[in-house]
Amino acid sequence: MKDYEIVIGLEIHAELNTKTKIFCSCRNSFGEKENEQCCPVCTGMPGALPVLNQKVVEYAIRMGHATNCKINSLLKQDRKNYCYPDLPKAYQISQYDLPVCYDGEVEFAVNGEPRKVRINRIQIEEDAGKLLHQEGVANTLVDLNRCGVPLIEIVTEPDLRSSREAHEFLETIRTILMYIGISDCKMQEGSIRCDVNVSVRPKGSEVLGTRCEMKNINTFSGAQRAIDFEAARQLSILENGGVIVQETRRWDDDAGRSSLLRSKEDAQDYRFFYEPDIPLVALEEAWIDQIKADVPELPQEKIKRYVRDFCLSKTDAGNISRNYERALFFDACTLIDDKLAKNAANWILGDISKYLNERNEEIDAFPVRPSRLMSLLQLVNKEIISGSAAKKVLSIMLEDAADPMAIVEREGLLQNSNEEEMLRIVEDVLVVNSRAVEDYKQGRANVLGFLVGQCMKQSKGKGDPKLINRLLTERLK
Ligand SMILES: [Zn+2]
Repeated sequence: MKDYEIVIGLEIHAELNTKTKIFCSCRNSFGEKENEQCCPVCTGMPGALPVLNQKVVEYAIRMGHATNCKINSLLKQDRKNYCYPDLPKAYQISQYDLPVCYDGEVEFAVNGEPRKVRINRIQIEEDAGKLLHQEGVANTLVDLNRCGVPLIEIVTEPDLRSSREAHEFLETIRTILMYIGISDCKMQEGSIRCDVNVSVRPKGSEVLGTRCEMKNINTFSGAQRAIDFEAARQLSILENGGVIVQETRRWDDDAGRSSLLRSKEDAQDYRFFYEPDIPLVALEEAWIDQIKADVPELPQEKIKRYVRDFCLSKTDAGNISRNYERALFFDACTLIDDKLAKNAANWILGDISKYLNERNEEIDAFPVRPSRLMSLLQLVNKEIISGSAAKKVLSIMLEDAADPMAIVEREGLLQNSNEEEMLRIVEDVLVVNSRAVEDYKQGRANVLGFLVGQCMKQSKGKGDPKLINRLLTERLK
């Protein structure tokens, strides 16, 4: 078997979090009673006329700017015809030849290595309803609340080369959407979904293989599994002397396999044509530029700045910027004291993340805000309290709004730098741990850390670690 490579392109659908739907004034909200958020426009009653929601265009352009796309100044909608019970009017209003954004590029990282994926286009379109198949019920029900919910579809060039890369890229897109605030990105509510196009070709070949499209992918890990399955399926066909046939396949994540949905399908099958009910709109250059100003500093820019200005590792910078709220929290900390940025990062990724993970909460819910956290870190930095005392103070601060210094005084946690007292503790610890002392004398230098820890414990976390370290080293000579 020759060396093959996998070629992947993605079509990502993200629901926009506008107040109302794309072509009518129905509310755009998830989880409402079935068929109660719809009107003649979104259910496609004859004679009802759609009116384009300006916010949808604005949000799509914001995403275009965030992904370095060019923006089309002429806005045109097209009808994509297909017949399915979740779409009563039998066509979807979408975009065909003039997507609102095109020719973009997104930078991201895989295992710390920089990668780029080109964006072919970003278009706006309406979502369809939902079919409800109930267990034990012969009929299928339809809920049209989702009809007319605004979507952007982000189409990439086939620039991805592994399922892992695709997963990482999807995470990047989700993070960007969160940063620019245009989608809730709730996977469990289906507000971000994707179709993947997979083909294989001999390594080094410039020609693309025949691709298959996989639909019904609702999670990013599902996308990764679907790609692996599809690549293996295609390779086994080729290995057995077969030919790949272009088709659309349905991914079944529970079964971990895909099945044929329909064979070759091309744009012409949808008989696209200009949507006559929505006039062409010429977008003002000034408006397009103004939307650019709403794009905040994006994850990749933050990573570069954190590494450059605060000497964070790429991994730490990536972990902080991956979550928008966490990045804002960190930024607020560094605005208070940028010299303690690295300490703040360690606390955010360490104790604070642990606390939040245990409760399945986001940093917005963390009771200690950046200003109080930084007051605490300054106490450590000025050697007023030890690091281990700081952990204790933080745990008290979670339920007590008092100033960190007031807590330190109340709890008697001031760092103890009294040499005589510390020396007593050091001598006690050396007597009790004679085995460790022997080990140290045999050349096991790392025992020192253990002994410092024991002294800190004896001092109830109040001892000055530097002083203890010095006293221990002297005694052990
Ligand atoms: Zn409606």
